[in-house]
Amino acid sequence: SSVAHQEVHAVVEEDDLTGELIGVSEGQLRAGLLARLAFTDRPIVVSGVLGTLITAAIVAWAATWWQVALFVSTRLALAFGTHALSRRVNALSPEVAVAQGYLNVMDAWMAAVALSWASVVFFAPSPVLQEAPAVLSLVAVIAVESVVVLLASVTKRSILVVIGTFWACLTLRVLLDSGDARVAFLLCNLAYHLLLAMHALNVQRETERQVRNEIVNRVLLERVTQLHTRERQHRDELARVNEQLQSALEQSEEAANHDHLTGVLNRRSFLDRTFRHRVATKQDSEMTALILLDLDRFKSINDGHGHGVGDAVLVHCADVLRREMRANDVLARWGGEEFIVLMPNTTGEEALACAERLRNALANAELTGTEVGGSDAVQVTASFGVATLGPHDAFHEVLRAADSALYAAKAAGRNQVRMAE
Ligand code: GH3
Ligand code: MG
Ligand code: MG
Repeated sequence: SSVAHQEVHAVVEEDDLTGELIGVSEGQLRAGLLARLAFTDRPIVVSGVLGTLITAAIVAWAATWWQVALFVSTRLALAFGTHALSRRVNALSPEVAVAQGYLNVMDAWMAAVALSWASVVFFAPSPVLQEAPAVLSLVAVIAVESVVVLLASVTKRSILVVIGTFWACLTLRVLLDSGDARVAFLLCNLAYHLLLAMHALNVQRETERQVRNEIVNRVLLERVTQLHTRERQHRDELARVNEQLQSALEQSEEAANHDHLTGVLNRRSFLDRTFRHRVATKQDSEMTALILLDLDRFKSINDGHGHGVGDAVLVHCADVLRREMRANDVLARWGGEEFIVLMPNTTGEEALACAERLRNALANAELTGTEVGGSDAVQVTASFGVATLGPHDAFHEVLRAADSALYAAKAAGRNQVRMAE
């Protein structure tokens, strides 16, 4: 039975989200019924003790004192025994209690309880006789029987055990007797117990249905809780992965748009920005300036100090340029040691002045050995070509003009600014 129980749990724990039909195993049902039986513990004790005292008072009218004492002590022992048994079952889990045979123990106990009640008829005068104590004790026994049956009507077997015991005791009592009403009594006794059994079995069927539903509900609730937990875990996991993707995307965009050495824009994204800027300002007659600059005799820096120092100088130059730029100027690394600046809304004179400022800033910054990671200080200058870009000019022509101006600046001795023709 506990194996079947584990199987149902295994189904729930499987990764099958569509779920299976929930089957209630025989073991689970028996465990649920046993738990019900143990639950009726308190009414059994209370009705047992009260009924015992009332019945004893009736029987004492006709029976001897030791019969009454025997009846009362047996009854009380059984009532408290029921209580102890129920507590024991409740302390165990119902599945374990079933596995240890407590359902059978309960049935046997019910039989003993029924016997202890029905035994009253042997102490009283024959019920067939028309003596008051006999009739009263019979009425008491039948009343007690209906209560016990209803309390025990959790399993079919306990019902049959209890009713069978009462019926057998009453039948035996009458058979031991002699009287005119014997046959009538036997028939009434039989009819009464059949009706009682029918009713009790109906109640039992309803109880079983309830227990079954409770088990199904419990399993469903567990499953829903598990699904809910799993769904929350999946959602958290998804959010985490999304975050990672987002940051990876940002990183790769950053890497795709920027020069990895100096951190300024690369050529591709410079052209992209320039194109977008031109599209946005197509209707305006605004002038845009372009500055192209190339570090002077950079090869000799590499040759004299090493490539690492050359790299550090490039980084330094990018920093200087960036520091001197306005917020909406676009600075990019155009090639090896060439940089380019797009200056929106800027005239040729303004760009010329700006290029002069940049040239000065570069020329005046002497880089110490530690700053460039070498042993000696390094001095770097650059030559500049400046051109203006009107709304109707072709970008590649303006770029070529700036390049020519830069070449002229080199030719004229470097560390100078030249305006394109
Ligand atoms: P000029 O004044 O005529 O421009 O002389 P130059 O030596 O700067 O010109 P040239 O074009 O002959 O040399 C450019 C050098 O820049 C050659 C190349 O090795 C170096 N260079 C290009 N990219 C990098 C880089 O990323 N790091 C370093 N360290 N050197 C680079
Ligand atoms: Mg150069
Ligand atoms: Mg060059």
